[in-house]
Amino acid sequence: MMPYQISVTPLWMDNAAMPPPSTAALPARVDVLVIGAGYTGLAAARETAAAGRSTLVLDAGAVGTGCSSRNGGQVAYSIKPSFNTLSEKFGADRAFRICREGLDAVAYLRSLTAQRGDCGWRDDGCFFGAHTARHFTHMVRDAENQPRGLEQRISVVPKAAQHEEIASDFYHGGCVYHDDASVDPTRLLLSLLRRALDSGASVADHCAAVAIDATRDGFAVSTSRGVIDARQVLLATNGYSGPLSPWHRRRVIPIGSYQIATESLGAPRVRELIPRGRNIVDSRRVVVYFRPSADGERIVFGGRAALAEKDPLACVPRLRHMLNRILPQLKSVRMSHAWVGWVAYTFDTLPHLGRHDGIYYCMGYCGQGVPLAPYFGMRIGQQMLGLKEGATALDGLPFASRPYYYAKPWFLAPSVFAYRIMDAIGL
Ligand SMILES: Cc1cc2nc3c(=O)[nH]c(=O)nc-3n(C[C@H](O)[C@H](O)[C@H](O)COP(=O)(O)OP(=O)(O)OC[C@H]3O[C@@H](n4cnc5c(N)ncnc54)[C@H](O)[C@@H]3O)c2cc1C
Repeated sequence: MMPYQISVTPLWMDNAAMPPPSTAALPARVDVLVIGAGYTGLAAARETAAAGRSTLVLDAGAVGTGCSSRNGGQVAYSIKPSFNTLSEKFGADRAFRICREGLDAVAYLRSLTAQRGDCGWRDDGCFFGAHTARHFTHMVRDAENQPRGLEQRISVVPKAAQHEEIASDFYHGGCVYHDDASVDPTRLLLSLLRRALDSGASVADHCAAVAIDATRDGFAVSTSRGVIDARQVLLATNGYSGPLSPWHRRRVIPIGSYQIATESLGAPRVRELIPRGRNIVDSRRVVVYFRPSADGERIVFGGRAALAEKDPLACVPRLRHMLNRILPQLKSVRMSHAWVGWVAYTFDTLPHLGRHDGIYYCMGYCGQGVPLAPYFGMRIGQQMLGLKEGATALDGLPFASRPYYYAKPWFLAPSVFAYRIMDAIGL
């Protein structure tokens, strides 16, 4: 039992002007039906609607009910495999182009938010803390040997100067990524919603797609509110991909990511703890990430709190413990919010977009979709229009599953357990 009330609604929703539930009757037929009203679906819908295609976006819950209203709002270069790993697999040229997509995604989001100015964008950068002295050495080596043409602005912070970034001795120094940024996740969602609506798209919330059947000239999509015929269908369901498409479900691994927010500490106290207001992540395998809230009054902390999935309130003690190991000054502070969302990992840790059995899809951002989802959502929308600018370096990559994987990630708990041990012994 918690001694005080903790909200399980994401902090960002507290003052968000979310749209009322949609009540309009569904159209019988559209050119484009997008399933999933998160960043991906809304960005894609904006493209198709702006090109004059009648476009409807469905969501099983409220708009943005998935990750897009409940993430950490951290914006970073987000292609997980390194340039060297990608080069070994695909050759240097394609590896370079895949990595460029990661930089382009951040640039796209930066320009989008600059145009609209309503997403709480902050160019404060990110401090990447070294969990061990060996990690610090590797970080410095990587920062000094960035592949040409893929450079990010990085500066090294030795342990002696670490307090300029965070009032903690937990890390062994680290690096600052100056091009990283943050947004208010819900304001970004509402901004993408507004763009899609302004372009002529419609949105139907609380409307789950339950079956997709091929027809002579497209698809008949059965929903909880009736059947809709569509010439084209996009699956933008990411970590919430359910039984609707078993093929996709076998290719994404839904993993719970948990966050807590402190009670309001006041901006001066938050500044004492994180003097430059940056995002903080660290080099452990079981990742933690935190940042000042968009209003600068609280600290929002996230990570993988449990071996197997749990409800967010049950994870508060562990997340608190993880936060207090880094910032023991917060031991007596209360948590006001705790929530969870389902990110979508893929077996090669790359996002995937394309077409399977005629159905378009775009998903698998491995917990880093704040820049990737709006960007690849825009690209898949362009692909649906047949535009050559929709082409990406990820097109045509095999989207692999694994034998014995049927959407229940039985390997997750043992993997997290092994990673925790590796982190504990500093591997
Ligand atoms: C706690 C947490 C912290 C995160 N922090 C960060 C971060 O700091 N930085 C970062 O880059 N990324 C972060 N992410 C990841 C990021 O939020 C996601 O990658 C991104 O929002 C994915 O957007 P999306 O539109 O593809 O999917 P989602 O926003 O998850 O949307 C998918 C939608 O599909 C709908 N849906 C599913 N099935 C159906 C159906 N049959 N019919 C109708 N609708 C359906 C769902 O209801 C859902 O709304 C975080 C995620 C979580 C959970």
